[in-house]
Amino acid sequence: MNHQNKKFVSLQEIKTKVKLTSEEEEFISRQNHDKLLQQKITRHYFSLIGHQADDPLRRQCLGRAEEALEKSYESRDPLCEADYSPCARLIHRYPERVLLLSTDDCFLYCRHCFRRCFSGGRRGWIQDSELQEICVYLEEHQNVREILISGGDPLTAGDKELSQLLEKIRACCDSLIIRLCSRAPVVMPSRITEELAELLANHKPLWLVTQFNHPRELAAENIQALERLAKQGISLLNQTVLLKAVNDNISVLKELFYRLAENQVKPYYLFQGDLASGTSHLRVNLERGIRLMEELRREMSPLCLPLYAIDLPGGGGKWIIDKRNIRVEGDYYAITLENGQRYFYPREDF
Ligand SMILES: *Cc1c(COP(=O)(O)O)cnc(C)c1O
Ligand code: SF4
Repeated sequence: MNHQNKKFVSLQEIKTKVKLTSEEEEFISRQNHDKLLQQKITRHYFSLIGHQADDPLRRQCLGRAEEALEKSYESRDPLCEADYSPCARLIHRYPERVLLLSTDDCFLYCRHCFRRCFSGGRRGWIQDSELQEICVYLEEHQNVREILISGGDPLTAGDKELSQLLEKIRACCDSLIIRLCSRAPVVMPSRITEELAELLANHKPLWLVTQFNHPRELAAENIQALERLAKQGISLLNQTVLLKAVNDNISVLKELFYRLAENQVKPYYLFQGDLASGTSHLRVNLERGIRLMEELRREMSPLCLPLYAIDLPGGGGKWIIDKRNIRVEGDYYAITLENGQRYFYPREDF
């Protein structure tokens, strides 16, 4: 058994644990032909999924035939990130923060991934020449105060590559706030070794942003990984994606947010689903999301509650959802910003 097989489950192993539904079977037979986001699942995450077809963890990792359906309003690049990219692998949408796409590799390809036009590709880890160009850009843009290191998942790289990246960023801007975005604490907790936690702690200011979407993802090994990070004084944030039949109910969200806070993780955002191709079966109706958040807000403290936000379609950027600025217009919600700009989001599943 090689190293890869120890970390990831094969299709054969999947089939011995769960009886694939026809939608899941169809995905597997079409994934190469239709160029769908590949299926890759860690052994750890697979150990947490249940046998039922509608298991909330299973829905996040096993592809389904619906991913081949593309709605007219969906896109492979729903946030229009390409329009905001001054150099390869860098996105500069907000004046004082940039986002770096370190790699297109992930431990597990989330079925709701909105960056599916990049993730799961063959570019791999950022090249020296690309990083050089980004450093030049940062030196020319001294107003930038934060860098998000994302992807893909930057922790798929080894400690050596990661430390070289962090060193280079620190060498060009030594007070830049680094936000490392990784789903490793959820899907590959063993990646969070004590050495890694120490390495990250040596590059503060550094915040780790992860993505727990369901309380069952906080299993013993996951909590231990969070503890290793917290022990090094690394501040932890979580961004949850609101997902249909995964976490779109009060008790699941409440339990998730409380358990995160209990484990020193601040729930930062709850994201409304982006309009990424083939993800409509995982999106929650916007008004339903608003009602869920209103109910949670009545009961929970702002410490334990994230901001409910949406990345406005067509490159409008992040917006904290405020129902006072949303109107129904036919099959769409029309969102009007303070500056008068209007954006449209579909009224799905109403
Ligand atoms: C989300 C995002 C950020 C960070 O936004 P915050 O609201 O500060 O979390 C920065 N750049 C890009 C391109 C983003 O999509
Ligand atoms: S870890 Fe992030 S980039 Fe990778 S598949 Fe999941 S959502 Fe997409």
